[in-house]
Amino acid sequence: MNYEKIILKSGRERSLLNRHPWVFSGGVKQMPKAPNGSIVEVRTNADELLGYGFFAPNSQIMCRLFEFTSEPIEINANYWKNKITRAFDYRKQFINNDQTNIYRLIHAEGDFFPGIIIDIYNHAAVCQILVKGVELISQYVFEALNSLGFNHIYLKTKQSTQLLENVTDGNRWVNDAILTMPINAKEYNIQFNIDVEKGQKTGFFIDQRENRRMLGELSMGKTVLNTFSYSGGFSLSALKYGATWVDSVDSSKDAVELANQNVALNGFSNHEGIVADCFEYLKQCQKTYDIIVLDPPAFAKHSRAVANASRGYQSLNKLGIEKVKPGGLIFTFSCSQHIDKDLFRKIVFSAAAECKRNVRIVRQLSQPDDHPINIYHPEGEYLKGLLLHVE
Ligand code: SAH
Repeated sequence: MNYEKIILKSGRERSLLNRHPWVFSGGVKQMPKAPNGSIVEVRTNADELLGYGFFAPNSQIMCRLFEFTSEPIEINANYWKNKITRAFDYRKQFINNDQTNIYRLIHAEGDFFPGIIIDIYNHAAVCQILVKGVELISQYVFEALNSLGFNHIYLKTKQSTQLLENVTDGNRWVNDAILTMPINAKEYNIQFNIDVEKGQKTGFFIDQRENRRMLGELSMGKTVLNTFSYSGGFSLSALKYGATWVDSVDSSKDAVELANQNVALNGFSNHEGIVADCFEYLKQCQKTYDIIVLDPPAFAKHSRAVANASRGYQSLNKLGIEKVKPGGLIFTFSCSQHIDKDLFRKIVFSAAAECKRNVRIVRQLSQPDDHPINIYHPEGEYLKGLLLHVE
């Protein structure tokens, strides 16, 4: 099969030789005559093949490579099936299906498959397509998922993707294989009701699985405040491992309702769900806690927002550090891609310094095995956290 070519400017192949998967528009010497979403060859100025990617002529990232090769290959149904099967086999090493059937199967660049994430909830797969190129090959993705036993596939498309990338398909069950909501699925044997149609993200914040478990293991006999609690993931892990009381706080009434349902589903009652702004709650509440979780949404959605976001994280962490009991623990996170590990640590340092308490970093936290970081694509490292001990 013949593919159209992107020819890079001289010298602009360096990052691609290092397998960074993005071609920026400024590095392109010659554009292919191909529509948005086409699969194209990427070639150096000397016409050497570097690999294949999805073309997006109107985007700053003009091409996202999914394959690095100097030899031409054919990209067909089998190619996509192999890629998805490799990702599935990789997960089998880390995910024990008897305990956990909520996991991420495809983590975009982390699985050498830019432009898509696929999350698994029991027998259902939720595909979130991020670029036109993946929409054009989506039939192969669905076939691959079917062959792995996922017969209920929900295609979820954000409005921003529809506008920016012209991905038009979405928010439907593939082949009308509809599942009624919610889906019951489990994480380390904790049951969750998940609504993939109406829920945030693909329905659940899968990326906090290992951090939730760690919190659980430290929760026996403790009181826990879970801020930004969404469907109660951290709360349930604490309850399962013997926390005496857990408060979950979220500004969304639906989220608190979901957390309450999940607590009941697992047979616990030593819990209260509170609809409130977490900043206000931390300022005003009279209680103190042994453990506090601070897991806000991304405050910095783009690089221009970093300064404001930093102030937000700082004031949140200050409130948390003030509120925790002497000898208590704080799990604090940022999922803003534009705030890196070092900056986050500086922000938490400033917050701690304002509180004038002894604070130690006990552990440095990250994203789990099913959200792997492609070593050539450091942008994929987005979730960072610290476990703090506060005297
Ligand atoms: N920790 C959760 C995920 C948090 S997602 C988990 O493990 O599943 C972020 C949540 O913060 C969302 O549910 C959103 O409704 C909530 N939120 C956003 N801004 C908030 C605010 N100012 N106060 C309280 N909750 C907020």
